[in-house]
Amino acid sequence: MKTRSVAAFLRTRTTLTILAVALAAIAVIAADPKEPAKIDPGPVGGPPSDAIVLFDGKDLAQWRAQNGGDARWTVADGAMTVNATGSIMTREEFGDVQLHVEWAAPKEVKGNGQGRGNSGVYLQGRYEIQVLDSWENPTYFNGQAGAFYGNAAPLVNPCRKPGEWQTYDIIFRAPRPAAEGDAVEPGYFTVLFNGVLVQDHVPVKGSTTAAAFKGAVQKGPLVLQDHGNPVQYRNIWVRPLN
Ligand code: MG
Repeated sequence: MKTRSVAAFLRTRTTLTILAVALAAIAVIAADPKEPAKIDPGPVGGPPSDAIVLFDGKDLAQWRAQNGGDARWTVADGAMTVNATGSIMTREEFGDVQLHVEWAAPKEVKGNGQGRGNSGVYLQGRYEIQVLDSWENPTYFNGQAGAFYGNAAPLVNPCRKPGEWQTYDIIFRAPRPAAEGDAVEPGYFTVLFNGVLVQDHVPVKGSTTAAAFKGAVQKGPLVLQDHGNPVQYRNIWVRPLN
């Protein structure tokens, strides 16, 4: 090869490389055209600035009784406590969400199995992430704390002692209602319990047992269960993901 043609070949190769890099950069920019919204994450445990605060420790304005009227759980010292007045539900309804809930089982241990520190967080009033005192309290695995009740046991048991505050961070993708005769498109649960993964993209196909609401819907209320035990809740917030 002559000197001149070698130089021309190298120039062409360099030009092609530059062109390829430029095209790749354009493709990346074109596929990612929107700047993510800036939000304030707030203190550890939230709420972030774009969340809907469902309970900030002061009142039950965002809630009503599932059996009718205003929610009547006891509010004191920045927490709400189950008090045998029935389950409560949000006034607003939700589809796909990120949900943060903090709860504590009664410090005074009473009962065992499903009778100890039982409550629950129902997405769309249908799909329960079980709340239970699962500290040295054996029960069926898909009924312990962090279970998708009746469907999926938690991957591990990171439950703290009764009386200590615990966190649930729940990412819920709702099942999609189908035309009559068609199968419902499943939804998914991903759940962190005290920061530990316990449900990993688990399918949500149908209603769980003991749910008052049935069938797949676009939106439904969040429900906190009164199972007869004085479980406490605080710092509840939600971010719709639609
Ligand atoms: Mg329950």
